[in-house]
Amino acid sequence: MPPPGSLERLRVANRRAITGLLAAEGPMSRADLTRASGLSRTTVSSLVGALIASGQVRETAGRGRPHKGGSGRPPVLVALSTPAGGVAGVDVGHRHVRVAVADRGGTVLAEDLAELDVDAHGAEALDRAAAMVRTLLDRAGVPRADLHAVGMCVPAPLDRRSARISTGIMPGWRHLRPARELARRLGVPVHADNDANLGALAELHHGVARGVADLVYLKVASGLGAGIVLGGRLHRGVSGIAGELGHVQVGEDGLVCRCGNRGCLETVVAAPRLIDLLAPAYDEELTTERVLELDDAGDPGVRRVLDDAGRTVGRAVADLCNSLNPEAVVVGGSLGTAPSLVSGVRHAVDRYAQPDTAAAVRVVPGALGDRAEVVGAVALAIARVAAA
Ligand SMILES: [Zn+2]
Repeated sequence: MPPPGSLERLRVANRRAITGLLAAEGPMSRADLTRASGLSRTTVSSLVGALIASGQVRETAGRGRPHKGGSGRPPVLVALSTPAGGVAGVDVGHRHVRVAVADRGGTVLAEDLAELDVDAHGAEALDRAAAMVRTLLDRAGVPRADLHAVGMCVPAPLDRRSARISTGIMPGWRHLRPARELARRLGVPVHADNDANLGALAELHHGVARGVADLVYLKVASGLGAGIVLGGRLHRGVSGIAGELGHVQVGEDGLVCRCGNRGCLETVVAAPRLIDLLAPAYDEELTTERVLELDDAGDPGVRRVLDDAGRTVGRAVADLCNSLNPEAVVVGGSLGTAPSLVSGVRHAVDRYAQPDTAAAVRVVPGALGDRAEVVGAVALAIARVAAA
């Protein structure tokens, strides 16, 4: 690394700014890069030239939109070269491990899912994940030595400072640092983040929120959480646990939450609570999948409960919208695709957010479903390799 303050150090930082933008936004014209980086046109042009010469960036066959007001040829786009080798995404859920191996452009080459009791057996789940990565590399024809990095999703808040999962909900993980443990098994850098953050990253890069700079991603599943993207970047907060929407208080004397407080939103809205609420009125055993089917079929009880749940979450989301003024609220997680839940959120945002804020925000279901976390983990791995 060149000495701080030197001209060479500045060039390295500027090159990273360019490759970072291309990694996050995909192919861009030199004019777009100039606008987005805040660097001068000549600097961008010379940096792009140097990156093309070194093989890190290439001109693409596709072209961008013509310059504003101009009638000339549309500009040539530049993109990151897809370097050799691959990355992996590992999604550790409470009851599953899903792994994807992708090329460095983010195209998934092989993917697999295993069901196991993750919460109680941390070390075993990590062994299984490592074995799946190796098998999928072989299946995808990527030599094991060419794996550059792994992105990892954990289903709980991850304290950035201690690198530990910060709640007691996963007894088999209490003494584990998940990223370090998986890195030890695979011999490559592993970058971990929580499920809502990676869901947000996945919808931002590959889902319904492409091109959106400010968004809130809600994960409504066995728990409730949010991932917040501001200015095109994940907002993680000082210790990595920003977006803990599930622990917003909605009832002073409500049920005791796993966090130790009472009346947290998650004690009212997570999937198990909704199923408990519905169970007495149905003669069959309800699962999340069955609840989604019943919602689709127009079942009035299910519609009512999901709409109420959406409005309860939406009340808290409206406050978040007032603070952040996002362009999109993306509803993901196993219940996120339920139309009644999404429309409940929309209704509450319209009712409780400031009218201009409500008018500016789209409320949409996520596009990636169960795969959001693994796709986000792949995106995280690619971003970290590009920044290295
Ligand atoms: Zn709580």
